[in-house]
Amino acid sequence: MEKGFYAFGTMNYIRIDSVMPAKAQKLLLQNMQKKCEELDDLLSAFKSESDIGKINANAGKAKVAVDAVTFRLLKYAISYAETSNGAFDPTIRPAVELWKIGKKEERIPEKRECQEIKKLVNYKEIRLDAANQSVFLEQPGQALDLGGIAKGYAGDVIRNELIDNDVTSGIMNFGGTILTIGKKTDGTDWKIGIQNPLQERGAFIGSVILNQDALVTSGVNERFFVKNGIRYHHLIDPYTCEPACTGVLSVTAAGDCAMGLDAITTALFILGAERGIRFARDR
Ligand code: ADP
Ligand code: MG
Repeated sequence: MEKGFYAFGTMNYIRIDSVMPAKAQKLLLQNMQKKCEELDDLLSAFKSESDIGKINANAGKAKVAVDAVTFRLLKYAISYAETSNGAFDPTIRPAVELWKIGKKEERIPEKRECQEIKKLVNYKEIRLDAANQSVFLEQPGQALDLGGIAKGYAGDVIRNELIDNDVTSGIMNFGGTILTIGKKTDGTDWKIGIQNPLQERGAFIGSVILNQDALVTSGVNERFFVKNGIRYHHLIDPYTCEPACTGVLSVTAAGDCAMGLDAITTALFILGAERGIRFARDR
């Protein structure tokens, strides 16, 4: 049984096979959709009522008490920022806003504007207070964006729930973040195509047999615009506050924790092939 729904700014699909009656499977998928919508309501930077929306609105002003999920995910996000030396930075939002990639008003800002915005991008200025589970951004104008990690986190949560509900075979695709459960119903391994980032959806550069649970890709094809033959995409280098330009078009990684892979593929993309491979080896 399969279900598709919109959340996290993208279409998400869950397919399960189970010995459960169809009615129970349908209910389970409905609950998983609801769970994703709840996570989106908590974590979206686009919703003013979300935890992230409230933290951003109070930047430089006041700390905001948040849900345990938000607090935990922010802790993870900061730890990935630390291990990647800031290539992954959850305070990237002002730079994403500056470029307006994925919106109608997309534009190429001046270098000077990027340099100015860079002063706001610094994960070290996120203050977490465990005593009252609150979050505070030090400077006015700073803003969080968990777009590089939230889908991975949601994927892990949903996969675990499905397993707890006796699903023995399944696949999820949350906008390029893929998770599997068990093997296909015919007993063979899951084989996942990797999107060619420069071609239409469904054109693959190759495929991988997935022996681990998750496969995550970060590429130039998800959100971008083209001006004067240059592709401006949504993966922003925190050091320049411009779309990362290292020659890398797409990064794919497999493992068991989709959240970690989501953050890491974003970081690897920013670092580029040489630094990225070194970083991946050293971890
Ligand atoms: P996708 O959302 O296309 O699957 P990613 O997981 O790589 O791809 O996340 C991209 C999103 O992450 C961007 O849309 C933006 O919200 C955010 N982002 C962009 N650059 C960075 C960065 N350097 N560090 C953390 N998050 C980023
Ligand atoms: Mg990511």
